[in-house]
Amino acid sequence: MGPLSRFSDAGATAGNPASRHESFVGRDPAEILSAVFGYKAFRGDQAGIVAHVIGGGDALVLMPTGGGKSLCYQIPALARPGVTIVVSPLLSLMRNQVDELEAAGVRAGALNSQTDYAEASRITAAVRTGRIDLVYVAPERFEVESFQRLLGQAPIALFAIDEAHCVSQWGHDFRPSYLEVGRVCAKFPSVPRIALTGTADPVTERDMIERLNLSGVRVFRTSFDRPNIAYSVVEKTDLRRQLLGFLAPRRGQNGIVYCLSRSKVEKIAEFLRAQGYDAVPYHAGLDSQIRRENQDHFIRGDGVIAVATVAFGMGINKPDVRFVAHTDIPANLEAYYQETGRAGRDGLPAAAWMAYGSQDILERRRQIDESQADAAFKRIRHHRLQTMIGYAETAQCRRAVVLRFFGESHPGFCGQCDRCLHPAEKIDGTREAQMLLSASVRTCERYGGGHLIDVVMGERTKKILETRHTELPTFGVGADRPREFWQRALRQCIALGLLWSPPGSHGGLVVTTEGRRVLRGERKVELIKPSGVTRPAAVSKMADLAGDLPEGQKPLFEALRVLRAAIAREQSVPAYIIFPDRTLIDMVARMPRNLTEFGAVIGVGEAKRVRYGVRFLEVLNQHRVGEAPD
Ligand code: ADP
Ligand code: ZN
Repeated sequence: MGPLSRFSDAGATAGNPASRHESFVGRDPAEILSAVFGYKAFRGDQAGIVAHVIGGGDALVLMPTGGGKSLCYQIPALARPGVTIVVSPLLSLMRNQVDELEAAGVRAGALNSQTDYAEASRITAAVRTGRIDLVYVAPERFEVESFQRLLGQAPIALFAIDEAHCVSQWGHDFRPSYLEVGRVCAKFPSVPRIALTGTADPVTERDMIERLNLSGVRVFRTSFDRPNIAYSVVEKTDLRRQLLGFLAPRRGQNGIVYCLSRSKVEKIAEFLRAQGYDAVPYHAGLDSQIRRENQDHFIRGDGVIAVATVAFGMGINKPDVRFVAHTDIPANLEAYYQETGRAGRDGLPAAAWMAYGSQDILERRRQIDESQADAAFKRIRHHRLQTMIGYAETAQCRRAVVLRFFGESHPGFCGQCDRCLHPAEKIDGTREAQMLLSASVRTCERYGGGHLIDVVMGERTKKILETRHTELPTFGVGADRPREFWQRALRQCIALGLLWSPPGSHGGLVVTTEGRRVLRGERKVELIKPSGVTRPAAVSKMADLAGDLPEGQKPLFEALRVLRAAIAREQSVPAYIIFPDRTLIDMVARMPRNLTEFGAVIGVGEAKRVRYGVRFLEVLNQHRVGEAPD
């Protein structure tokens, strides 16, 4: 079934979207927002961006995931005459966006390696005649001669370059074809360009402006805060038990569980299935058919957990992911923030949880050292990992730490993260830190953390005996404390920047200038006391999605979910494309009695009102108490 025919069987009220298409060219953006997307007001910078681009200006939009970047180009695409070309790096993302737009009655298509010949010809013809509003294309298209010719023959309204950070070689998502995109767009100086990304660091920003030829553009930088996400971090003691503790209050919700290795992905997915969760594995080593099926199951499903390596998620547009759990320390804070940003794109409460331990920190370091990258690049990656560890070990408000990292000021005390809800207890660890630092100095700063702990604890390992470190004054000074204590103390010394492993030291920990101040007794060190068990209560308040609904309305909410699932199945699209959770919640709150009132529900645009209104009203009427149905 071709995309345009998908809705032809959607009920008596639905016609062919192309034939009853309404033009929005020149119309007021707020009116388009309401009529097409069913939203009453722009969020944050959206209004300013949309007005700037409709007026023909170029824009670079830096906005966190879930901030609402898509509307920043979709509304200008409808308001400006001609076709908008959207560059998008991932097939699944394109399909998602096209499905969503078509559900809202917008004429959209995608050109990529999966588009068959007939579909490609249909889209190409529609581009030439301006009978399509948005075309999503893979960046590789821009290298194709015939595509560039097509651009020359068509009325182009706008170039939208999504995930624009893919043009930066420093990032983890570098796509060489993005360089060509910049060059080709420059050949059409009268067509405005909008580049969008959820990545904020200054190096990437400079790269985007340079490589996409965006000099002179207006930069719109939104706060990267995601107020609806609650952050928490635990030290790994028994990962499986800790993970179950986190998941227990979240049964039936969509989530992503990230693991560092493929084999761990498989094991954790199997473990969760055995515990009765609908969990599917996803990693690059899986058979491509199975991988696609698992991804589809997650995207279309409700209450599915994807257990995945970080390859999963980029370009997944599912707005109702309620949690993201990391079972190992991520490579750096930028990546972590982007990964956790996949939770709660719909603005409803969501959780970001992470468990970390020394083992995964060491594994990360090994990966960097053994990579093919040159020394400078390895140094940067080590430094970025260090910042990530700092986040994990911090005693401060986690939100404040992240936002400051992105260059934003934040007063701290967000009131939502684990540190705000359960302030970390600190102890004076100056003496203990001195022991570790001294062990490093006395062993000529050539050894890694494990060996330093052995020295302090007085372990007679083979290596200790060989190096005669038994003779050091520090040997055994900390024998009265368990290894776990020393591991934590060491991690915090690293996090506080007292010890670090410079490139070329092969993992040897060196005492920094600050560390030397500690040794001289000029600086005190506070260590965080272990919190012990995970506290599910810390975030469980956020867990229950429909929690704000009065008890009596929950059956209606569930009934609406069932109807949504049925329609989604009929049309083979994900449930959220029919309506996001927010719309169902608003429906319950408003209890519309007719199609006009139905149109006032958040997220109900004209096309969806006509297409689904009758069926939803039917369910609403069945649940109306004490009143006769309309
Ligand atoms: P991004 O691309 O920045 O990650 P999206 O464009 O996917 O974010 O938007 C995230 C969610 O927010 C989507 O479900 C979208 O429909 C919704 N959204 C965007 N703008 C608004 C708005 N002005 N009012 C209500 N919801 C919005
Ligand atoms: Zn906080």
